[in-house]
Formats: sequence, C-alpha cells, structure tokens
Amino acid sequence: MALLINEIFYSIQGESIHSGLPCVFVRLTGCNLRCSYCDTCYAYDKGSEMKIAAILDRVATYNCPLIEITGGEPLVQKETPDLIYCLLEKGYEVLMETNGSFDISIVDKRCIKIIDIKCPASGESNKNDLNNLKKLNPRDQVKFVIANREDYEFAGKIIKLISPEFPVNHILFSPVSGKMEYAKLAKWILEDNLNIRLHLQLHKIIWPEIQKGV
Ligand code: SF4
Repeated sequence: MALLINEIFYSIQGESIHSGLPCVFVRLTGCNLRCSYCDTCYAYDKGSEMKIAAILDRVATYNCPLIEITGGEPLVQKETPDLIYCLLEKGYEVLMETNGSFDISIVDKRCIKIIDIKCPASGESNKNDLNNLKKLNPRDQVKFVIANREDYEFAGKIIKLISPEFPVNHILFSPVSGKMEYAKLAKWILEDNLNIRLHLQLHKIIWPEIQKGV
C-alpha cells in the first residue's frame, strides 16, 4: 500500500493547540480545493510514491512522539486512513489537518482532526461539509483562517453550529498571514466577548522567509 508524499520533515508545530511542540510532518500530495491564500501550492501535484512501511521507517528516524498528517488535503488519497491507523498502532500521537470537505469519520477516532473550515475569502467556503461538526471528538480542533471582517462574521455564525459540549479552547481563529492584522482580530474577539482561541502561525513568526517545511 503506497501514498504520494510531498515531503516529510521535523519541525516545531506552528498551528493548532499543539503549537510549540516538536513534530514530524508528513505532507501528502494533492488537494481538491484552491484557496486564494494557499501557502502550500507546491503540494498540489509534486510527490514521490512511498509504501506505508517506508513512511513508518522514515518517521521513526526522528524519534518524536507527535506526527502531523497534512497536505494538500490528506483525505484526497484513499490510503490515508490506513497510514494514520498504522502510526497510531505504533504508539504515536497523530494529528490530521484537513480542509473539512471530506467526511472525517473515515479516520480512526484516536487521531486528532484539525478541521480548517473555509471562510469566504478563501473562495472555497461552499465546499465545507458542515456535517463534520457533528462528528467531532472532544480532542479535535476547529480552525477558521480569517482574512477580513466578512470571514470573522462567517466564523462567528459557524461556531454556533458546534455542540456546546465541545471545548471552546479547541476553536481557533487564525489571521491570514500578511492580510489580517493580528491586533484587529484580537480587538474584534474581545469586543464580541467570543469564547474562542486567537491563534497565530508560530512557524511563520519563527521562520518568516521560509515557504516550505524546515
Ligand atoms: S485546502 Fe489547504 S492545501 Fe488545499 S488549497 Fe486550501 S489552503 Fe491550500
């Protein structure tokens, strides 16, 4: 069983509530969306085929307990749930960042899903599968990448669809780098007394010039 892999690298987790932790990233090739602000266009079609056993061997060389499966969109490849299962069985904590346009329930429940709900400025907000909001586990996370006030208001409406049982500190509002002023987004959140987490992309603060995995 093989997957198309764009890159595997070891770095500091820059997103999610795991931000700041060392993490091995497995970036899968392919995405079904074309977001206006996409910073991983290089993963749309470039990659090399790797068997799951080879991916496990490579990941093991980093001696790191945290793995993130990302893309592109990981669920474009039908073998992704098998890869995640194999990583979980090896004892890793596994995160999967997904654009939320596919059914997340096909992935092992032990995997922490980070669902990136697309806001209007992405140009892809009509692709969200909002049924996924009913399939969240308490360890999952929901992220909104926000470019402007319209996105902010859109996100404010969507969070009302999430169960009140879901931990509010797992709901992330993340400003689009270079487009949305951090302070302005912080001000809106405080003005509206929103009980969510403002989330900055740590890797872009540490390595502002670097576009690919480090
Ligand atoms: S879903 Fe992610 S990888 Fe795909 S186009 Fe949007 S930002 Fe890029």
